[in-house]
Amino acid sequence: MAYEYDDQNIFAKILRGEIPNTTVLETEHSLAFRDIQAQAPEHILVIPKGPYVCFDHFANSATAEEIVDFTRAVGQVATALKVDPGTGGDGYRLLANSGRHGVQEVPHLHVHLVAGRPLGRMLR
Ligand code: IMP
Repeated sequence: MAYEYDDQNIFAKILRGEIPNTTVLETEHSLAFRDIQAQAPEHILVIPKGPYVCFDHFANSATAEEIVDFTRAVGQVATALKVDPGTGGDGYRLLANSGRHGVQEVPHLHVHLVAGRPLGRMLR
């Protein structure tokens, strides 16, 4: 199936610098910035810079270099926030809403990294 990427989505505009964001981390292929409607003390969105709609699109179309960069960026954000349980942090949750039933609001792949309080069994 072909994916249609809407280059007018808000994260595409952030990547082009057309609207501001609070950047936490930037790598060659990924950007991490604060969610404007944070659901926890730490709520970061990590996105690939490439035009990928959702996780399956990314996994099937991105280069290995992009996939490695994105995966590492997620881990690097956890490290930067000092929430990495491997180094004594209190932990975090990763979530990627995809498509209609996933209630994906912005059609550019993003992983939510949420931390800073006990999160219960589900994010929402
Ligand atoms: P989704 O439901 O997983 O697609 O989540 C999209 C997220 O993007 C929501 O948590 C929004 O609060 C967040 N969001 C929307 N616009 C912006 C923005 O301009 N900057 C940062 N976060 C945004």
